[in-house]
Amino acid sequence: MPIPLVDLQAQYLSIREEIDDAIARVVAGGRFVGGPVVEAFEREFAAFCGAAHAVGVANGTDALVLALRACGVGPGDEVIAPALTFTATAEAIVLAGARPVFVDVDDTYTLDVAQAAARITPRTRALMPVHLYGQPADMDPLMALAERHGLYVVEDAAQAHGARYHGRRAGSLGHIACFSFYPGKNLGAYGDGGAVVTGNAEWAAKVRVLGDHGRTGYYEHRYVGCNSRLDALQAAVLRVKLRHLDDWNAARRRAAERYRARLASLHGVVLPHEAPGREHVYHLYVVRTPGRDALRERLTQAGIQSGLHYPVPLHLQPAYADLGYAPGTFPRSEAWTGEVISLPIYAELHEGQIESVCRVLEGSGA
Ligand SMILES: *Cc1c(COP(=O)(O)O)cnc(C)c1O
Repeated sequence: MPIPLVDLQAQYLSIREEIDDAIARVVAGGRFVGGPVVEAFEREFAAFCGAAHAVGVANGTDALVLALRACGVGPGDEVIAPALTFTATAEAIVLAGARPVFVDVDDTYTLDVAQAAARITPRTRALMPVHLYGQPADMDPLMALAERHGLYVVEDAAQAHGARYHGRRAGSLGHIACFSFYPGKNLGAYGDGGAVVTGNAEWAAKVRVLGDHGRTGYYEHRYVGCNSRLDALQAAVLRVKLRHLDDWNAARRRAAERYRARLASLHGVVLPHEAPGREHVYHLYVVRTPGRDALRERLTQAGIQSGLHYPVPLHLQPAYADLGYAPGTFPRSEAWTGEVISLPIYAELHEGQIESVCRVLEGSGA
C-alpha cells in the first residue's frame, strides 16, 4: 500500500458524521459568508490560542498581509523574516508594500535571533518569525529584541496550530499572529481559509474592516481593503476539527517519537529536535541528509510519498532577485535546502507505515 505524505481521506473517515452534520446545518441555515458559525469558530479558535481575538479571513497569505496592514506596516518599512520558509511569508511583506529583509535560520529551522538583531535599521518596523514545520521560534529573545527597538512581532503560525512555547500557544506569543487553514495544515479546512489572532482589539477590528472592502458603514468604505472573509462552510468544518486538534497533534508527536526511536542511530541523517521549552506539533517531519535526492527516489520506488520544504531559500528565488542577495549570504538555509526531505506524518499514520518508511531510510546508505 502506498504511503502518502498526508492522508486527508483517513482523517475524514474518522469524523465523517460530525462533518457531514455540520455541513448540512450550514447549507440548511443559508448563511454562507460570515454569520453565527464563523463567529463561533472565531471565539473558539481565539480561546484555543489563548488570545482575545480571532478574525477569519480567506487564507493564510491574506492573514499575513492584513496583519501587517493592521499594525501599520507599509511602504518604506522593512520586515525581518527567515530565508527558509514558504514563499507566502515574504510575499505578504511585499503585498503590504514593505520590504523583506532576510536572515538565516538556527538549528530549529526558525529565525536566528542574533542575526535578526544585526539586521535592524531605522526603517525596520516588524519581525516575522515563522514557526516552521510546527515548532515555535525562540520567542522570548525575539520579543525582548522587539521591545528594545519598538518593533511589532507578527507570527507566521501557518504550520503551528496548537504548538507551545513555555506553555503558551502559537498565536499568543507575538503581538499578532497569522494562521492558514489550507487543507493539509494541522488544522485544515475543505478549501482555503485563514485567521488573524491578536490580543489587540483595535488591530482585530482593523483586520475585519480591511477584509470586508474597508467597510466602516453599510455605504462607507474608509480604506481600500479587499475581499478576504472566512466561509461558513469552512468555519463549520474547522469547528469540528478544532475539537480533535489536541488529540491529532499528540498523535503526530507520537509518530515523531517513533521515527526518532527508529532512526536515532542512523548515520548521516539529522532528525528534527525539540528545543527546551518548546512543544513541536510536527506539521512536517523534516530530516536532513546529504543523499537527499537519492533517498527521495528510493522512497518513491517504495510507494512512499515525500516532500521538499523547501528546495530553494527565498533570497535566491527569482521573485526576490531585485532585493539583491547573492548566493552564499545565508549558509544554513542554502545548505539545508539541498538536504531537507519531509517524511509522511499525520495523526492516522500507524506503526507499520513508519516501519516501512524507516526501512527505506536504513537501506538507502544515507
Ligand atoms: C501555508 C503557509 C502560508 C500561506 O497560507 P495559505 O493559506 O496557503 O495562503 C504562509 N506561511 C507558511 C509558513 C505556510 O506554511
